[in-house]
Amino acid sequence: MNSTVTSPGVIEADAVIIGAGPVGLFQVFELGLLEIKAHVIDSLGAVGGQCVELYPDKPIYDIPAVPSCTGQELTDNLLKQIEPFEPTFHLGQEVTRVARRDDGRFDVETSAGTAFITKTIFIAAGVGSFQARTLKVDGIEAFEGSQLHYKVKDPAQFEGKNLVICGGGDSALDWALNFVGKAESVVLLHRREDFRAAPASVAKMKALCDEYEMQLIIGQATGYEADDNGKLSQLKVTGADGVTRRVPLDMLLVFFGLSPKLGPIAEWGLDIERRQLKVQNTEKFETNVPGIFAVGDINTYPGKKKLILSGFHEAALAAFGAAPYIFPDKKIHMQYTTTSPKLHKVLGVETPVFD
Ligand SMILES: Cc1cc2nc3c(=O)[nH]c(=O)nc-3n(C[C@H](O)[C@H](O)[C@H](O)COP(=O)(O)OP(=O)(O)OC[C@H]3O[C@@H](n4cnc5c(N)ncnc54)[C@H](O)[C@@H]3O)c2cc1C
Repeated sequence: MNSTVTSPGVIEADAVIIGAGPVGLFQVFELGLLEIKAHVIDSLGAVGGQCVELYPDKPIYDIPAVPSCTGQELTDNLLKQIEPFEPTFHLGQEVTRVARRDDGRFDVETSAGTAFITKTIFIAAGVGSFQARTLKVDGIEAFEGSQLHYKVKDPAQFEGKNLVICGGGDSALDWALNFVGKAESVVLLHRREDFRAAPASVAKMKALCDEYEMQLIIGQATGYEADDNGKLSQLKVTGADGVTRRVPLDMLLVFFGLSPKLGPIAEWGLDIERRQLKVQNTEKFETNVPGIFAVGDINTYPGKKKLILSGFHEAALAAFGAAPYIFPDKKIHMQYTTTSPKLHKVLGVETPVFD
């Protein structure tokens, strides 16, 4: 089900959902009940939005009829619930462009070059697309993608290299531990003695430092040196003592966490109020652009509460609001999943016999 379409051709769709957080996932379900198939796009490599990115192991207590479940469990259950509707996921790509076409449909394009023509769009983009917090050293951005990396796509690329890994969270520690023994050398650079990472990882890192398998430096990157070929060769690190030292390196890995950015959504001609999308009313959750709906944390209206259950309700009404764009001649009736043979068919379940 988690197929990623990378076809060079344009994908024609009835519905494109931007954001695979809990609300984007439930939007698939509500559209599915109305026999509308959805494509789901997320800039992250995994589904679940804030629930998976920010609190995968923390329990949530206010999902109706689910006394307690973690962010990851909620996501897993949503994925199970939407299985019958076979959504197509396009992960690891940000939606960069949305524009109305002359025929009333929309062009949608992603950072990976995937292109859609769609009748409706559901923006379930939460607090925006999560982007890596960058290293603030003048000029160092020139090495991004070659010697400066904010994520590890291909671990083999770092083997046999002198690595400096910046950060004190789980990603920094996990990768530092992973590369010990595979890289030529591993230096972990963190600005203070306290770590946000799991205590077991911190203990392992300290043990490896004691065994001279890797090195920990407490300090901040404040500059760099490039060699005659223009390659990044040294990182200047200023310690708590105010002394700046030079650390030689081949590759610099930075894990300062993710920060959400509204990003390109701000450029699509939608009404925005304090970094949120204004919806016209709370019957359909449609934006000022007919055919574009906004659900979940991204939207705003009087009384809005940024809760998962509010987003679920919005997704149900937005699906009904969108149906006339997809089936202009069809009368849409609300039906119960318990009793409707039609819904049983779309859900792929058997209709129970009532006495
Ligand atoms: C620590 C914490 C605890 C919480 N606890 C609770 C709780 O107990 N109960 C509760 O109801 N709520 C809780 N919340 C809030 C809840 O997580 C949010 O209300 C919920 O995640 C909103 O879901 P969403 O699908 O609207 O957006 P999100 O979960 O933010 O997902 C949005 C997705 O859209 C993607 N995206 C954004 N822009 C683009 C783009 N241009 N292209 C592609 N993808 C894009 C993002 O990468 C992201 O994955 C908590 C939040 C936090 C931070």
